[in-house]
Amino acid sequence: EATIVVVGAGLAGGRTCVALRQLGHRGPVILIGAEEHLPYDRPPLSKAVLASGADPGLGLELDGVDVRLGVRATGLDLAATTLTTDAGEVSYDVLVLATGAEPVRLPGEGRQVSLRTREDATLIRAELRPGSRVVLVGAGWIGAEVATAAVAAGCRVTCLEGGAAPLAGPLGAEVAARFLPWWREVDLRTGVQVEEITADGVRLRDQTLAPADLVVTGVGVRPAVGWLAESGLELAGGGVAVDGDGRTSDPAVFAVGDVAARWSPRLGARVHSGHWDEAVNGASAVAQTIVGAAAGADRVPYFWSDQFGRKVQYVGQHGPADRAVLREHDDPEKWGVAWLAEDGRLTAHLNVGYPKAMVQARVAVEEQRRVDDEAVRRLDAAL
Ligand code: FAD
Repeated sequence: EATIVVVGAGLAGGRTCVALRQLGHRGPVILIGAEEHLPYDRPPLSKAVLASGADPGLGLELDGVDVRLGVRATGLDLAATTLTTDAGEVSYDVLVLATGAEPVRLPGEGRQVSLRTREDATLIRAELRPGSRVVLVGAGWIGAEVATAAVAAGCRVTCLEGGAAPLAGPLGAEVAARFLPWWREVDLRTGVQVEEITADGVRLRDQTLAPADLVVTGVGVRPAVGWLAESGLELAGGGVAVDGDGRTSDPAVFAVGDVAARWSPRLGARVHSGHWDEAVNGASAVAQTIVGAAAGADRVPYFWSDQFGRKVQYVGQHGPADRAVLREHDDPEKWGVAWLAEDGRLTAHLNVGYPKAMVQARVAVEEQRRVDDEAVRRLDAAL
């Protein structure tokens, strides 16, 4: 039986190992992870872990998997089907890349914390004290969740955002404006450019200083592919290029989760990964492909965020040319956005406080349904 090596002991890597065993693979499975922890869940890090110190452990059933923690893969020789690690070489018959993504860091010598690991969350939580000055760089998904926890902890919170409003980049200015009132208790400064992180806080390009006891940067992540640079494996948009079932340009190598850039035939584009759902469903798809089970469907991207007491859900993937139509409800706390292609097809949907709409929208996006403009304007109308 083939030896399957999985690199990256996060959500995608851990779930791939579990799925391989469930699907009956009997040969050796080796899971190599740079962190000292068994796979744990990251979404709680910016939510329950910051709020209450909850345990983010996934409790995956990894009996029968040769788990090697604290080991980092450093290179890949495709011709020799061998991986180099800081603990020696490892040979494989099948290799699964699940090394996730790494936070982008800003220039400067001062301390900046990003939120990616358990250690990061523990450190931030310990410093969210009443009255302490917390400066967040970036009002994106993670910035909003950290702001929520910091406000709740009684910190004085400043957020520095380059765009005109939170999430204006990914969602467009009109939709982003809707998020602004949620930031009431934060000193949110939009349209500002950060120059560097200093010992005293964050220096802006106009040379003003935002003084801080704690600087948290949330300005995006990059797929962890640095160690693959010499391998010759095809990359796309910064990640490892894969087809719908996780196959890379090398037949013995698969990639899944945040490190992968999956081609979606439905979208005619690569899926911007970086979300929990993609890691979980991608792990099943890769394991099925490896054991020769039926190929999966073209998955519709989905993610959620919990910020300022609201649940935001987004399903699909809109393009820059798609039209955003706001959806209203009698209750102003519930609203949504539908993105429509030129031909009226629903390409993506966002909803706040109204999960029912997401379930419907997922089906409509999957079926590439053309939706009625009038129905779109009412959040409680069927799509
Ligand atoms: P990861 O979870 O990053 O795991 C990759 C693992 O590989 C890491 O342990 C890493 O140390 C290891 N590794 C990297 N390089 C090497 C190497 N060379 N050798 C060995 N090991 C290596 N998604 C949502 O949909 N909704 C949310 O609300 C949400 N909230 C989030 C909040 C936070 C704070 C974070 C950080 C992420 C959040 N996400 C959310 C995203 C979601 O957690 C990720 O999409 C998911 O964790 C991806 O899983 P992964 O296994 O691909 O990567």
